[in-house]
Amino acid sequence: MTGRYPADVDVAIVGSGPTGAAYARILSERAPGATIAMFEVGPTVSDPPGAHVKNISDPDERAKAQARSEGPFASEGGERVGGIVKTAQRRARPGTFLLEQGYQVEGEDGLPVAAFSSNVGGMAAHWTGACPRPNDGERIGFLDERGVFDELLDEGDRLLGVTSTAFDSSPHASLVRERLAAVEDDGREPHERVQRMPLAVHRRDDGRLVWSGSDVVMGDATRENPNFRLFDESLVTRVLRSEGRAAGVSVTDLRTGESHEVRARFVVVAADALRTPQLLWASGIRPEALGRYLNDQAQIVFAVRIRDFVPAPEEEGAGPAGLSEYSGVTWVPFTDDLPFHGQVMQLDASPVKLAEDDPAAPGSIVGLGLFCAKDLQASDRVEFSEDAVDGYGLPAMTVHYTLTDRDHAVIDRAKTEIVRLGKAIGEPLDDRPFMMPLGASLHYQGSTRMGVQDDGTSVVSPDSEVWGAPGLFLGGNGVIPTATACNPTLTSVALAVAGARRIAADLASSPE
Ligand code: FAD
Repeated sequence: MTGRYPADVDVAIVGSGPTGAAYARILSERAPGATIAMFEVGPTVSDPPGAHVKNISDPDERAKAQARSEGPFASEGGERVGGIVKTAQRRARPGTFLLEQGYQVEGEDGLPVAAFSSNVGGMAAHWTGACPRPNDGERIGFLDERGVFDELLDEGDRLLGVTSTAFDSSPHASLVRERLAAVEDDGREPHERVQRMPLAVHRRDDGRLVWSGSDVVMGDATRENPNFRLFDESLVTRVLRSEGRAAGVSVTDLRTGESHEVRARFVVVAADALRTPQLLWASGIRPEALGRYLNDQAQIVFAVRIRDFVPAPEEEGAGPAGLSEYSGVTWVPFTDDLPFHGQVMQLDASPVKLAEDDPAAPGSIVGLGLFCAKDLQASDRVEFSEDAVDGYGLPAMTVHYTLTDRDHAVIDRAKTEIVRLGKAIGEPLDDRPFMMPLGASLHYQGSTRMGVQDDGTSVVSPDSEVWGAPGLFLGGNGVIPTATACNPTLTSVALAVAGARRIAADLASSPE
């Protein structure tokens, strides 16, 4: 042992979000004899570890869990805690904290509300759980050519516990879907039509909704694996290599301040799309594409009051806990012709609260969100400083990010489209749609992108192994090479499945 850590393991995983958890789960299933150590810089805030904080029924306890997830200076009730972005101000969503500095360079658009979560379970302890499949240009062509992409996405569904029926009893969900379908479905293939959003949520026998977090991804297979250990409050500061090959990690125990080296045959870094390239940079692993092709989804929002709304009898006296049940979540899939991903939800469950003080009947207001796919550029990137550091003492970040003319054209189209969709459902609450500050989607991608060859435009192979660093695998939205508009977690969990299978196969072929 070294401190509270083992001196060596087969696999070290950095980050306990859903993609790190996917590696742990697949390895537990396919290589049960392998020793695995997972390191997470944040604290454990829910039970089982990694569980979604929405499953915590006591609102004070839930707020505490959110506050403890908010980074190196997290404080319960402090300045940085929570709030929902309603204007162009920099405000973080509960459970997240913003990039303090370097989020915008003069003359560029930047990512003013680029955010992180630091807790066991990562952002998936706070997420909405929308798990749509990528479509058309969002798909990863070389994985489709190999015929593996859909099977990996199926595995992602299994690990995340994705269902489409949790809101089937919602009184207004089918009305919303029917009205959207009437104006949108013409000419679309069946899988592209307006439909229920696949969600990482299930309903317990007593009727209560349980949102999936990393706890569900890990599952009993990981929790009951005697060779798996999760270490919270453990900051990985460096990936160690020996003759180019991954050889372990340096980790600082935040409880004692002591640093340790844990040797490992394989290292997985799944530390989010900004901190994964940061850790590689800090470790001197700096492929040309590292941090580049960064892309976020510009998010347009609009709210309407459902036309001819008839409250369902069971809505009388319903408390806030039940509010998200009324209109469910509806999905308008991305297509190459309409390059936006639509998420339509009752506002109480939506990422945006536009009608906080509206006396309207519960469930009568729905929020529409259209996420736009970015025009990819190598120059959109996160850079790391040689000397300045962030709140964790790792290389400080500077984001270079600019919307192109094509991006502006897509955003303008999305604004027109969202009004059309909104008016199909009901009466608009505002004259015009609102564009959230860049970074609000929380879907940062591309910074450690996957490719078929080491040609300077990608960081990892189709198995998520870093070019030129055998034994080092990555997880997270940063690995996604396409500009998706849809919520990316299902896709990044699917890609993590392939990486974990490769490690399991390598362990089997070269047991130590
Ligand atoms: P994360 O979940 O970010 O986990 C990374 C972990 O690594 C963190 O816990 C972090 O603390 C840890 N870490 C970082 N650096 C280090 C280090 N050096 N040492 C040790 N640990 C480290 N996505 C969807 O697909 N659908 C949605 O509906 C959706 N809704 C969202 C709503 C909200 C409010 C939020 C906050 C996010 C939402 N997302 C959604 C995004 C989704 O949560 C992320 O895509 C997903 O969690 C990414 O998983 P990950 O494992 O790659 O990274």
